[in-house]
Amino acid sequence: MSPTHLLVIKIGGTAGIDPSGLCDDVAELISQGRSMVLVHGASDRADRLGLALGHPARFLTSPSGHVSRYTDLRTRDVYVQAACEVNTEIVAALNSRGVEAVGLAGDGSCPLLGERKPAVRAVFDGRTRTIRDDYSGRLTGVEREAIEALLTKGLTPVVAPMALSDHDGLLNVDGDRAAAALAAALRAETLILLSNVPGLLRHYPDESSLARRVPAESLDQALAWAQGRMKRKVISVREALQAGVPSAALADARQPQPLRRALAGGGTWFG
Ligand code: ADP
Repeated sequence: MSPTHLLVIKIGGTAGIDPSGLCDDVAELISQGRSMVLVHGASDRADRLGLALGHPARFLTSPSGHVSRYTDLRTRDVYVQAACEVNTEIVAALNSRGVEAVGLAGDGSCPLLGERKPAVRAVFDGRTRTIRDDYSGRLTGVEREAIEALLTKGLTPVVAPMALSDHDGLLNVDGDRAAAALAAALRAETLILLSNVPGLLRHYPDESSLARRVPAESLDQALAWAQGRMKRKVISVREALQAGVPSAALADARQPQPLRRALAGGGTWFG
């Protein structure tokens, strides 16, 4: 697989993001000979499924203020079900546009390897406690050859945000970091993270303050602009660039032709 051709694209899973525009773009670009790996989020689907099943989402705040889903065993199962549903829908949307997409989700085909965090520190009512039943994971590896074999056959892998662990089954992993790890392992040309904002805003939430270009040496500045969950995206971009991916972008998933606009220079470009 030539590193000059592969794109790794992640589409966010928050409410209001419709993947159909991305699927249109993927079909168009694949017909022009581009190779792609897609990663998707599942947060809104997991929230709604949890509510419907009587096990609503709960969140943990770390001592440094980072918020993450509290993935106890039942939530892990809800999360996996939600992510598999989203995965199936994106694969079907791509297939209906003539793309030969392959869903990689669940026990049998998960290409991401991880390790459960055995103890997570979280703040409750001002007091820090240690949570030991969280099924969130740290990524430890990527089944690179399995994905490359699919790409070589002209197939388009669609990867769900979960990792398989040796002892604890499937784990909830962050989709942005998963996309960065895939881009690095596959020596992709570009990592593109599509989300519900135009890109990285210097003065969030002022959309006119979009940063168009962030050189690799200014990533610390970019991290200072990012708040909350955007920090994780900038960290993912940094991980990809440090691992040798030449460029990365944060761009808007909410508009028509989101991928083509990003590739034409839309959003925030890093590197
Ligand atoms: P997704 O689910 O699509 O991956 P997230 O909700 O995790 O996206 O992260 C994107 C969010 O980051 C935006 O909706 C916005 O609320 C927040 N954010 C915080 N700081 C910034 C910033 N400086 N620029 C853009 N978005 C920011």
